[in-house]
Amino acid sequence: MILVSSCLAGMKVRYNGTDSLDVHIQKLVEEKKAVTICPELLGGFMTPRPPAEIVGGTGEDVLNGTAKVVESSGNDVSEMYIKGAYEALNIAKEINATLIVLKENSPSCGSAAIYNGSFENRKIAGNGVTSALLKREGFKVISEELISEIFLHEDM
Ligand code: SF4
Repeated sequence: MILVSSCLAGMKVRYNGTDSLDVHIQKLVEEKKAVTICPELLGGFMTPRPPAEIVGGTGEDVLNGTAKVVESSGNDVSEMYIKGAYEALNIAKEINATLIVLKENSPSCGSAAIYNGSFENRKIAGNGVTSALLKREGFKVISEELISEIFLHEDM
């Protein structure tokens, strides 16, 4: 079974109440080949919610306690991000996820790039908190940008 970000399947769960629909991901869910998670909702957030970025490092650093996830107001929400990551990990284990496709650039779901904490639309290489934990636990995590390429080359 594949695990995917809820917003990629068309659910309006992003911080600003929108989705990040990817038709390939939506198709996987419709065909019951994938199930959805939103780590931020699993961590206790509501939609809409303030935007947040990782300050002082990457998702691995947040898990290690050396970086923080903060809202644009400066409010430290690291604990909720870490809770959401562990809830996502529990689900990944329950369904024995063979592939996890998460939304790029998110402080939870990014798996190649995240925003740098300046709230100036600047990105750095790195994982969000959930992707960092899932990779650390041995799961294969990719972004929607890669699965779109896979769809072009094979029938999943
Ligand atoms: S936490 Fe992940 S699934 Fe939830 S809205 Fe953000 S990018 Fe999408």
